[in-house]
Amino acid sequence: MTPAAVSFRIGSARVTSFNVGDLSLRLDEVFAPGSADARYFGGRDMTAPQDFPTKSFLVASGPLTVVVDPSDYGRLLSPDHFKARAVHVSPPTLEAQLAAAGVAPESVTHVVVTHLHFDHYAGVTKGGALAFPSARYIIPAKDWETPEMAEARDRGDADVAQTLRVVEAAGRLEPLDGQLDLGSGLTVEPFPGETPGHLVVGIRSGPESCYLVGDLYHLAEEVEHPELAAVWADAGALAASRRRFSERAAAERALVIPGHLPAGRISFKGSSPTWTEESA
Ligand SMILES: [Zn+2]
Repeated sequence: MTPAAVSFRIGSARVTSFNVGDLSLRLDEVFAPGSADARYFGGRDMTAPQDFPTKSFLVASGPLTVVVDPSDYGRLLSPDHFKARAVHVSPPTLEAQLAAAGVAPESVTHVVVTHLHFDHYAGVTKGGALAFPSARYIIPAKDWETPEMAEARDRGDADVAQTLRVVEAAGRLEPLDGQLDLGSGLTVEPFPGETPGHLVVGIRSGPESCYLVGDLYHLAEEVEHPELAAVWADAGALAASRRRFSERAAAERALVIPGHLPAGRISFKGSSPTWTEESA
């Protein structure tokens, strides 16, 4: 069953999240087996596959139509991707889900990729062309410049060649180092750690705010234990970003929407951030 799109009003802006497909992950693939991190998961079996929804987002604010983290389940299902095991029925594509929401690809003004992990950018192209032909494509410069990405670009790695390289060749790629104000209450700013340049998209309208945080958090446990880091992350930078983010999100009572979790809000119990899932 495909979960329906979930929509939130943030003042005069609207944020919609689309599940583009459940991946399957084991906790011991994300957190080092036998590491101290296992204690955070109590009695949970870290070797058991668990569903891991992958989401793409639409933000409509004033004249802006912004797609955040366009994914493409068909591409993620290629056998090279360890995350794509034991999947269910493929959901409709992001393109089909956007069409059902009344959004034509040509009307998208900006695409923002929070970080350069494939599940967050596989949908920047469609059939070898730009998926959103009129859009500016904003990606984190520090992720684009890592030695691993440089090597993948040189080697002609298919994931990169068929996606970000196509956007680059079209003159639409905008690697961002630092902050960007898109107008109409939308901002893009770095919260590094999960990757060197990881970006967060902020939406503000009147007193309300919302943040699309990508993989700043994959699991609710990471809100409460900011030091809990995936094996590929820079744990120190990530913990600092999470502390900075959680203080702001709690002060603003902001709606927080991670890439693989339902929306929630962060509040503090004493000095500890806690996560409360937003009821639909
Ligand atoms: Zn992800």
